[in-house]
Amino acid sequence: MSDDRRPPEGPRPRFKRVLVKISGDALKGELPHGISNAAVEAVAAECVEVARLGVELALVVGGGNIVRGADAAGGTLKRATADYMGMLATMINSLALQDAIEALGQETRVMSALKAEEVAEPYIRRKALSHLEKKRIVILAGGTGNPYFTTDTTAAVRAAEIGAEALLKATKVDGVYDRDPVRHRDARRFDKLSYMDCIKGSLGVMDATAITHCMGNSLPIIVFSLKQKGNIRRVVMGEPVGTLVDAGPGDAPTDGAGAPPGRREAPAPRGGLE
Ligand code: UDP
Repeated sequence: MSDDRRPPEGPRPRFKRVLVKISGDALKGELPHGISNAAVEAVAAECVEVARLGVELALVVGGGNIVRGADAAGGTLKRATADYMGMLATMINSLALQDAIEALGQETRVMSALKAEEVAEPYIRRKALSHLEKKRIVILAGGTGNPYFTTDTTAAVRAAEIGAEALLKATKVDGVYDRDPVRHRDARRFDKLSYMDCIKGSLGVMDATAITHCMGNSLPIIVFSLKQKGNIRRVVMGEPVGTLVDAGPGDAPTDGAGAPPGRREAPAPRGGLE
């Protein structure tokens, strides 16, 4: 490792290994759909910044900027087919992200749940672990490889498999609110929620399958905005950004838009699963 790639001196990151879920929408920038190179490059820069801290980083990228199975299905297009199209969309996004990250000098591997040998390695858990140990950013494409699932569920499953200490869910909003903050100016944000709060309250954090999986594996979820530059690094450094979802009791919501988040402890690193 050359000198400029050595982790910087100073405070240590809170986590050694995390999985970041990036929605397809984050890659479309100002476009109505598809891929904005500028948006992809901005996401890539955030990821590289975190990798350079010495944090092992796996990414799960959605496909909603291209195809979302539930929306695309209809007429002659069957739901299962539409879902496979959605999974292929995640592969397109993963390749775009790979080039953008590697352009910044950071090694990556795209590993796919669907066979696509010309462009991606097959997803093999032990190989993924080996890449992570070598400080390569691992981009997990193709969802779970099964229709009727989401990339949020993919992120939950893969995070548990690779022993990530937290699932970082990057969104357009700076945390979880009691109501849609775009439509309700008085919506209030939670600093902390329990898994059950999310499942019972239908708060739109992630689908219930994904949250249940995180709950079953005591995997903390941190929901935060990707719109604010440097946020992935802040979360990884343990700063109180966004909303933490874990097994503990949730808090009352704090004031929404613009209000500083209440202080909370970042989750304690959890032990590996094996
Ligand atoms: N998908 C799927 N199985 C998976 C993951 C994803 O069938 O394991 C399909 C599904 O149609 C989904 C699409 O891929 O709508 C894109 O993923 P998602 O909607 O989760 O992307 P995001 O909303 O995060 O961009």
